[in-house]
Amino acid sequence: MTLDSANKAPWHCAACGIPLEKAKVQIAYLGSAFPVDLLRCSRCGIVFIPEELALTRMAEAEKILEDK
Ligand SMILES: [Zn+2]
Repeated sequence: MTLDSANKAPWHCAACGIPLEKAKVQIAYLGSAFPVDLLRCSRCGIVFIPEELALTRMAEAEKILEDK
């Protein structure tokens, strides 16, 4: 396995069994919506948010809010 293939979305939708695809998803946080790249099932539309990613993105969102 190459490093490249290891980095490709390893997540599958538990319900559909198909690979999740990267998609822009609007995240609502502190009354504002932010477009975030997340893994989403193109069939049922479920969005997978890794806890680590969510925490990182939320931290970025807080910075964006503070800068405004
Ligand atoms: Zn699905």
